[in-house]
Amino acid sequence: MRTLKNSEQLWSTIGSGKSIVLVGHANPDGDAIGSVSAMYHFLKQLGKQACMIVPNSFPDFLSCLDPDTDPILIYRDDTAVCKQKISDSDLVICLDMSGPSRIDDLADDIFTNSSARKILIDHHLNPVVEAFDIVVSDTEVSSTCELLLSLILESSAISGDITGLSLECANSIAAGILTDTNNFANSIFPATLERFSQLLKRGVDRDRLYNEIFCSYSATRMELMGYLLSEKMTLIHDGTVAFIILDKSEKEKYSFRTGDSEGFVNLPLKIRKVCMSALLTEDDGFVKVSLRSKGDLDVNRFAREYCNGGGHRNASGGRLYISIDETPDYFTNSIEEYFKKA
Ligand code: 5GP
Ligand code: MN
Repeated sequence: MRTLKNSEQLWSTIGSGKSIVLVGHANPDGDAIGSVSAMYHFLKQLGKQACMIVPNSFPDFLSCLDPDTDPILIYRDDTAVCKQKISDSDLVICLDMSGPSRIDDLADDIFTNSSARKILIDHHLNPVVEAFDIVVSDTEVSSTCELLLSLILESSAISGDITGLSLECANSIAAGILTDTNNFANSIFPATLERFSQLLKRGVDRDRLYNEIFCSYSATRMELMGYLLSEKMTLIHDGTVAFIILDKSEKEKYSFRTGDSEGFVNLPLKIRKVCMSALLTEDDGFVKVSLRSKGDLDVNRFAREYCNGGGHRNASGGRLYISIDETPDYFTNSIEEYFKKA
């Protein structure tokens, strides 16, 4: 669904917003933080003040996108301030999330208790359109950041001229494209490279951004990666499906911090026979599921049917409300059932 006819309506609705809140999904990734901060910088360019809220903390390597003067608010840490900002707002713009279930407790404040107008800008399958006043959804893009750049280029303030974009905004957009494509390894559409080329023309320093995002891990993170690959990777379904379980004691042992497992789920896919990979991480009250696949194998359907989640065909996620000890059997049985049905 591409609703570009909404672009004009989108910018006029945003233009009439007086107090704007920008929201990204829980466990924010580079596209969530990138699109929220890019929109923040663009609104600033339009002379508008907005505040940014995400449900919980994001990895350190994304802090280069967080403005020092007006940092992104973390709902879990600053709940009262966030509640006040939402109740004072007349416009909420949700980015990179398919619907209310992606923002945990923040959903009540925004979708139940606030009468502000709501806009969604997103690239996931099956957006919850009825929750919003305006939806701009396109699944044929690499990232929400790429979609946002197209929309910004269509705005009368920029009118197709990338040189009119602030460098901060361009950097945030580039970060979202870099992370959602896993440094141009997946989800590339013809326009993706054209858009990124425009960002380079605008002055984005790709090498610096690459180093900040992909080469800023701790030593314990690398040790954890080695341990999980050598000790915890399990191959099932005739070696075509890999899964890795990461439990709380291991997180503690390796001083696990938000973002440390970023990219782990992609590693087993480097094995020729493996066409689906899962990382199952113990969290507070649930097991977080990360799924990746190669080719036509649809992990979005698996995430929806077996993991209370969703996402894209080749990258999805969800949550299991079972104990970590039950997880290997549950996952293995679900895989067998899923492939039998297919
Ligand atoms: P990741 O594995 O990087 O956490 O998530 C990959 C993709 O899966 C995300 O971009 C998002 O589309 C989707 N996803 C992750 N977690 C959830 C979830 O809990 N619910 C839904 N609906 N989608 C999720
Ligand atoms: Mn995204």
